[in-house]
Amino acid sequence: MNTPALSGKVGLVVGVANKRSLSWAIAQAAAHEGASLTLTYQGERLEENVRELCASLADPLILPCDVTSEEQLDLVFTEIDRKHGGLDFLVHGAAFAERDDLSRPFTETSRDGFRKALDVSAYSLIALARRAAPLMEKRGGGSMLTLTYLGSNRVFPNYNVMGVAKAALEASVRYLAAELGPRNIRVNAISAGPVKTLAASGIAGFSSILQTYRDRSPLRRTVEGSDVADAAIFLLGPAGRAVTAEVLMVDGGFHAVGV
Ligand code: NAP
Repeated sequence: MNTPALSGKVGLVVGVANKRSLSWAIAQAAAHEGASLTLTYQGERLEENVRELCASLADPLILPCDVTSEEQLDLVFTEIDRKHGGLDFLVHGAAFAERDDLSRPFTETSRDGFRKALDVSAYSLIALARRAAPLMEKRGGGSMLTLTYLGSNRVFPNYNVMGVAKAALEASVRYLAAELGPRNIRVNAISAGPVKTLAASGIAGFSSILQTYRDRSPLRRTVEGSDVADAAIFLLGPAGRAVTAEVLMVDGGFHAVGV
């Protein structure tokens, strides 16, 4: 029998809100592949959800983490280091934009809304990477993964400021990969096709985007959390050992289609 891809590996997963979260699909797959996990939740509102989901995992560490809080970020890595003495992989699935900024004209994007979207959805990867890198170095290297969307370089109705945040996120992946590569730390993104999650419910007209993918993507279907999770295991585990600075499209091929 093959050894599970993440056997003996220690991972941190940020961005689980509920059972539909892409980060939760990745966490489940990583646990299935033998990883020991730390999961974080943003605020008390989500704590119960995350604790209930984690009941199916073996000995998880569950911690609060609002990615805009330096103190909470510090605490997460202190606790992981205390429990595991290092870290092998990081999954970043946190994103946020004000609901108004996902519906009004793009020219009306507020300064505060822009700041918050970029802070939570893009800067947070840098803040996590800075803290994760020394723990990964202790284990001889590691793999970081974030989640992005094609709205980073094409215009989708109502994606607005989140598209700008995803462009910044994808650029951050490349800069982080270049800087951390010599320490044997890889940094990649998965650009997922649309999936109906809590974050997606904030985007007006999301159902018609889903239908467009069903009609036009080469595979004639939308993707599921498990599609994203399988690609994540490739990037996080040994099969992806020579892949870094990559944005892997997991979207049924939609990105290749013109009309
Ligand atoms: P989700 O379940 O709503 O996950 C987004 C997570 O980000 C939530 O747990 C959310 O918590 C968290 N978050 C927001 N602000 C935060 C903060 N300040 N600190 C920590 N966490 C915070 O939705 P999802 O679709 O799985 O999203 C995961 C990632 O996939 C996002 O980066 C998203 O852009 C990306 N993605 C999604 C799709 C899609 O169609 N669903 C496609 C491509 C890429 P709250 O609920 O409390 O805000």
